[in-house]
Amino acid sequence: MQNIEDLLKGLNEPQREAVTHVNGPLMIVAGAGSGKTKVLTTRIAWLMGKHNVDAFNILALTFTNKAAAEMKERIGRMLGSNEARNLYVGTFHSVFARILRSEAEKIGYPRSFTIYDTDDSRSVLKTVINELNLDDKHYKPNVVHNRISAAKNALVGPAEYATDYYLQQEDARTNRPAIGMIYKAYAARCFKNGAMDFDDLLLKMYELLSTIPEVLHKYQHKFKYILIDEYQDTNPVQYQISKLLAAVHENICVVGDDAQSIYSFRGATIENILQFQKDYDDVKVVKLEQNYRSSQSILNVANEVIKNNKGQIPKVLWTDNKEGEKIKLVRTMTDNDEGKFVADSIQEQRLRNHYRNADFAILYRTNAQSRAFEESLRKMGIPYRIYGGISFYQRKEIKDFLAYLRVIVNTKDEEALKRIINYPVRGIGKTTIEKTVIYANENNISMFDALEQAPAFGIKGGTLEVIQNFITMIKYFRSLLQNNDAYSVAQQIGKHTGIVKELFNDKTTEGLARYENIQELLNSIKEWTESPANEEGEVGDKGLGAYLQQITLLTDADDDKENADVVKLMTIHAAKGLEFGCVFVGGIEETLFPSAMSINTREELEEERRLFYVAVTRAKERLFLTYANSRYRFGNLVQNEPSRFLDELPESFLDRTFAGGGARNSSGLNNMGSAFQRMHRGMGPAPERKSEGSKPSYMPVAPKQQTINHIPSPDFAPSDTSGLQPGQKVEHQKFGFGEVIKIEGSAHNPVATVKFEHNGEKKIMLNYAKLRIV
Ligand code: ATP
Ligand code: MG
Repeated sequence: MQNIEDLLKGLNEPQREAVTHVNGPLMIVAGAGSGKTKVLTTRIAWLMGKHNVDAFNILALTFTNKAAAEMKERIGRMLGSNEARNLYVGTFHSVFARILRSEAEKIGYPRSFTIYDTDDSRSVLKTVINELNLDDKHYKPNVVHNRISAAKNALVGPAEYATDYYLQQEDARTNRPAIGMIYKAYAARCFKNGAMDFDDLLLKMYELLSTIPEVLHKYQHKFKYILIDEYQDTNPVQYQISKLLAAVHENICVVGDDAQSIYSFRGATIENILQFQKDYDDVKVVKLEQNYRSSQSILNVANEVIKNNKGQIPKVLWTDNKEGEKIKLVRTMTDNDEGKFVADSIQEQRLRNHYRNADFAILYRTNAQSRAFEESLRKMGIPYRIYGGISFYQRKEIKDFLAYLRVIVNTKDEEALKRIINYPVRGIGKTTIEKTVIYANENNISMFDALEQAPAFGIKGGTLEVIQNFITMIKYFRSLLQNNDAYSVAQQIGKHTGIVKELFNDKTTEGLARYENIQELLNSIKEWTESPANEEGEVGDKGLGAYLQQITLLTDADDDKENADVVKLMTIHAAKGLEFGCVFVGGIEETLFPSAMSINTREELEEERRLFYVAVTRAKERLFLTYANSRYRFGNLVQNEPSRFLDELPESFLDRTFAGGGARNSSGLNNMGSAFQRMHRGMGPAPERKSEGSKPSYMPVAPKQQTINHIPSPDFAPSDTSGLQPGQKVEHQKFGFGEVIKIEGSAHNPVATVKFEHNGEKKIMLNYAKLRIV
């Protein structure tokens, strides 16, 4: 870096003030696009470059791991050095997971503790609920899980839960008085399994700091500077942890916008912003009022919307940017027409205004809305990527394989052990498993340890032999951990367990897909093992433990490492902090947005309005707001009124359009028809969706771009591929058109590498896949 002062060039006065403020608490409360994240990033570079603060002494907490990676990279570039790699930057969850790795033993967990994702947590809950002889239809694991999660985020442990008058009242009101009891059993089971769920990563971190003074001192001393982005969405446990860590040096800088607080359903509270000034003396408060992101027109709309909220810190937001085009407000007949309109407009904007695909985002309130958009984009051949749909890591075959990795790292991990004990089938039946679990519970040992004592509970003969072989195999894998990286161990597992072979021998289409997925997983482990910088694990740690932690903590927005030129589809929740040239916000209808579940109190409605504000302020140059007269929801055709938020927009800012579209056919089955067609074209069912907008940001996602499904040509008929040559053009029924790069494999099992236009390079086994030579 030539001159450190250059960092300040181009910043406005208050931005500069914030960047150059060195010691003492600092709070930046400012509207969308005013450079909060930029200031935070520049401030870190300034601390390092100008004041020689050691990177090891800086902790920065971001909303996604991707934001963290970008931040490191930018700081690296600003300083022209590799020092930035030593910064502690990440989400609360990933940073604390990393710290807990080295400190967990102090609170009774193994160093190699497992992190349970939402699925694992629900599965443990189901077991516990059944063991307590409660009905899991009434005590639905997801409902109970939400309740426990809320308690943990509010720092309420099982003991406090049981004695909390209000919680008891609430559980009695919903006729679920045993939640406290389940919570206690669940916490005990996770502990016994050597596992933490997502919420524990915060709760246990808090416990660690608040109960073990030397650990607290160590990290208070280490993190001399703490910076937190998106502070409006921190919850009580995050707030308490940052307060503990900052207590000695008080060099804490928080950045946020109360108007963008959209996670109260996860326990986030803007009280944290209001409280900040009371917690520290002499807080420097900086307001940023100039927006650098959006056109005048877009900003006008944003300001008009948010001023209808009563509960907010007053702010002005203005911009020097051009007025730009009016906001397009588009009505369509159906959700399918809405999808078509958006795909058409993307096509048109690309041609007319030279946008790249990556300049477009389609945002919506609920994941289920993506279907209509996907279908139209696919028809038009526009590459896209959905964030937050069913994730690669949630697929059965992937979870099974990962379960092996988990047991090998932590044999106490009962959830994982149950998945693999009889997979591939080795003749360990349900009764044996039940006996093992009972014996383990009675003797308070892990299920794996119980297996080792199988004769003690009456297992003998062939079953005993199978169990002993299984134990020997797992121990063999464990012996590899010491001197092998994650990839070598994973490879051995694939080979010795017989999983890869079993999937390979399954010649059905689904079997082939599963085989490909496992190969894909192995590839991604290889890639991770070979990558020089390892974001989340300890520096240089390429072991299996570090790998598992890293994939469990990927967030919605993290799956973008290829920076592919694709249109991005995501919920508004997932779009926080991001910006795009051209934004479509779909489904702006009553009952959908605002959601029917969030119109009963002013607080709920104001949160929906803040969500609308977040959506609108993602756009730099062009904004399209769309709504449909009718759409399918939960299998029914519903007619919706336009959203009340649209009434809040002055007519003069809008350019209204009706994007036509046909009426539904007489049976009203457009959507089902298309799903039907998709199934029968061999493209498989549409991906499953998560529930409305409630997906936590730290859910794992696929390592690779999702396949962009192709609709086969009407005359698609598989060709004889025995003489296929490199250079020939082919069509695959799922991956679309491409060119053959090479042919390898044996004569009776040839494998072609094909470079597909929209799906990149794939290896295709010609005996199974159907290709049409074009
Ligand atoms: P959000 O509230 O959405 O998180 P933010 O306040 O964090 O937004 P940034 O993302 O930091 O805003 O900045 C918005 C855009 O404005 C970015 O493209 C950033 O590079 C640009 N920007 C910020 N400050 C300046 C400046 N002084 N000069 C030029 N561009 C700027
Ligand atoms: Mg930001």
